[in-house]
Amino acid sequence: MPKPILRLILGDQLNISHSWLAESSAPAEYLIMEVREEATYARHHVQKIVAFFLAMRSFAEELRARGLIVHYISLDDPENQHSFAKNVSRLIASGRFSAFEYQQPDEYRVEQDLLQLASSLPVPSRAADSEHFLVSRQFFQDVFRGHKRYVMESFYREVRRRHRILLDGDKPAGGRWNFDAENRKKLPDSATPPVALRFPRDVRQLVSMLGAKGVPSIGSIDPSNFGWPVTREESLAVLSDFCERFLPSFGSYQDAMHTDHRLLFHSKLSFSMNVKLISPMEVIESAIGAWERSKGKISIAQIEGFVRQIAGWREFMRGVYWAHMPSYKTLNFFGANRPLPHYFWDGETKMRCVKHAVDQSLEDAYAHHIQRLMVTGNFLLLSGVSPDDVDAWYLGVYADAIEWVQLPNTRGMSQFADGGIVGTKPYMSSANYINKMSNYCSGCSYKLKERTGPGACPFNSLYWNFLISHREKLQGNPRIGMGYKLIDKMSSSEVAEITAQAQHYLNNLEEL
Ligand SMILES: Cc1cc2nc3c(=O)[nH]c(=O)nc-3n(C[C@H](O)[C@H](O)[C@H](O)COP(=O)(O)OP(=O)(O)OC[C@H]3O[C@@H](n4cnc5c(N)ncnc54)[C@H](O)[C@@H]3O)c2cc1C
Ligand code: SF4
Repeated sequence: MPKPILRLILGDQLNISHSWLAESSAPAEYLIMEVREEATYARHHVQKIVAFFLAMRSFAEELRARGLIVHYISLDDPENQHSFAKNVSRLIASGRFSAFEYQQPDEYRVEQDLLQLASSLPVPSRAADSEHFLVSRQFFQDVFRGHKRYVMESFYREVRRRHRILLDGDKPAGGRWNFDAENRKKLPDSATPPVALRFPRDVRQLVSMLGAKGVPSIGSIDPSNFGWPVTREESLAVLSDFCERFLPSFGSYQDAMHTDHRLLFHSKLSFSMNVKLISPMEVIESAIGAWERSKGKISIAQIEGFVRQIAGWREFMRGVYWAHMPSYKTLNFFGANRPLPHYFWDGETKMRCVKHAVDQSLEDAYAHHIQRLMVTGNFLLLSGVSPDDVDAWYLGVYADAIEWVQLPNTRGMSQFADGGIVGTKPYMSSANYINKMSNYCSGCSYKLKERTGPGACPFNSLYWNFLISHREKLQGNPRIGMGYKLIDKMSSSEVAEITAQAQHYLNNLEEL
């Protein structure tokens, strides 16, 4: 009998359709491990750690049920060396394996570790494609070869063309590539968004094992009623439920925020996709199938709005990440350096919008895109908080946060610390936008219309102050020009009052 290959499956590579697992594949044994190094490289939300470990454990069971040999090293296994490299080296040293294989990781840090490991082993090593994304890292480079800057919209169209997604012949379905203008409405009072599926589990044992092993975490969990989908079957159930009940209003309310509705019409599929329980293509195909079957009940604007997030933004972010790592992680265009205020950890702030988004993040390990971008991200940008602190918070707090997708979203899209690699302008706003898209401001102790004076909404003075203080860097940006025209119309005393108010808030950031 030839010796088997040792194949490493990382916690975010739970792809049951991978060609490794086909019957015709070479004789192999599979290695999945819970290592301290991964559970602690950031301070993760407890629900994120639990969701990862449960997903990994049930994936291992599924492989075993298919007759495959799986070496599962749990966090409390006495032989666990708590690093990928040490655990792999120990198994290879047993002399039982002919070669070592791994799937190309999505994180730069892990790829570097595995390359180093591979070069140090006494057996041949090989990296395989993770067979998950719609396009390769190279595709991104090819689309933008010779271009001065990246534009998500052109990349997205190329991905649609490449996979013939929502096309009528060579033309986009519905006659347009982009239906953003028809989407993004405020949630009407009469709307009743559906309640998402949950998959209740008792995870008390796992949570106490994390405690016993001293794994630090943030956020809360109800260990006797943990609800995240952690198997492929559960993820497919969420997908099919999303297509039926959420998709018909997805686009319309994708930017809306509401204190009574945390999920609105979002899919909550990012964790399942990011750990590869389901593939982006099957999500897109299911949604398009539902749109076709609906015979007009689901409008083109809804389906295009959803497909854009996955075929566009998700793949685009991955392309940016790989094109710019490792330097991307150090970019700080505005030189922001204030520490993250305490209320990002405890929700104790009078700003109702920030409180709601932070409380929800700490309770659910989830907030939807506009809460992340236009509430917490917007506030941190306007407050000049260090992008390192901002990254650490986003990477820890969300169950779907893995560096390849978190970093370009946080440092790039939200903080513009990359100086415009991801976006053409910083996503920032005063209270006006937040009030337009949510019910946060009614009931807030700050006055949403006031820029200055006692109780004025901090977003207002901070917004104008941000534009004023970064004029040199931003005034040439045609998408911001209007802001500077308005500033130029202000009297010098008005400008002075705004900047003084903003400075007062910045000096007392911890007290807001
Ligand atoms: C500051 C900030 C940090 C973020 N951090 C993460 C992160 O760590 N992990 C993560 O997966 N997403 C991140 N996002 C993107 C987006 O907010 C989440 O993917 C989305 O909120 C997940 O919820 P959902 O599954 O209900 O998404 P839906 O609104 O239902 O969208 C469907 C899918 O589209 C994809 N998608 C949508 N927008 C983006 C985007 N900008 N980038 C990549 N994929 C996108 C996701 O896979 C998502 O599941 C971040 C966005 C911001 C502004
Ligand atoms: S008034 Fe200002 S702080 Fe209060 S919820 Fe509105 S935007 Fe947020």
